[in-house]
Amino acid sequence: MLRLTQHRQSILDLINASNRHWDADEVSRALSDAGQAVGIATVYRGLAALEAAGLLDSIQLADKKRYERADKAHHDHMICTECGHIEEFIHETIEALQLSAAKERGFVLTGHQLTMFGRCKSCDKQE
Ligand SMILES: [Zn+2]
Ligand SMILES: [Zn+2]
Repeated sequence: MLRLTQHRQSILDLINASNRHWDADEVSRALSDAGQAVGIATVYRGLAALEAAGLLDSIQLADKKRYERADKAHHDHMICTECGHIEEFIHETIEALQLSAAKERGFVLTGHQLTMFGRCKSCDKQE
């Protein structure tokens, strides 16, 4: 079992207590609101270490990563490039197609990440 520093434990507890997808700035702000100010560099390093240990998952965006609990059931993401809304989804056909694409190539699939970008329903209406 990985021994966590106090800071890393605080970061992990914060993210595990929610269903959100957090960026480093939000984590840093939430910790200082809770009276546990942690430098942003420490937050970045902590998030990366927690992900490397398999304790957090992440989504890679153009300019940053967002982190979420690692214990949620598998899902993919749609991200609104206007408002930043993140929609979690699972589509059985897409899942099955990925498996068959891997199988055709003799590739043993152990996981995948799919992130789709676009405009969410409410941003699209405002056009
Ligand atoms: Zn939107
Ligand atoms: Zn998610």
